Amino acid sequence: MSGGNPCLTCGACCAFFRVSFYWGEIHSDFMVPEALTEPVNPVRMAMQGTNQPKPRCVALEGEVGDCVSCSIYPNRPSPCRQFEANDAEGACNRARAAYGLPPLELEPVAA
Ligand code: SF4
Ligand code: SF4
Repeated sequence: MSGGNPCLTCGACCAFFRVSFYWGEIHSDFMVPEALTEPVNPVRMAMQGTNQPKPRCVALEGEVGDCVSCSIYPNRPSPCRQFEANDAEGACNRARAAYGLPPLELEPVAA
């Protein structure tokens, strides 16, 4: 895709997947805000709102498919840091499809 960052007008993954991570990230350099998390099991936490049948992260601001932002971007947990637009397994486009958003085109590989 050309142009700007497609995530700024998407946000589908923040309202599609459970976002869970090792509890220690709350006390790591990430400093994920504990008040926005909930326990999944004794060693894992999830962002509130994502561990339910119709997920939507509590930190997501805006409308999916329009204009979105993450209210804790500098402190987001590792799954959010590792998730990539156009990932090889298609998770990004699966989330987009759930909101009627077109798939992202793979960037051409430089010769
Ligand atoms: S689903 Fe893909 S394009 Fe949309 S916000 Fe997530 S990573 Fe970005
Ligand atoms: S913490 Fe931010 S980037 Fe991660 S799921 Fe929530 S809104 Fe999205």
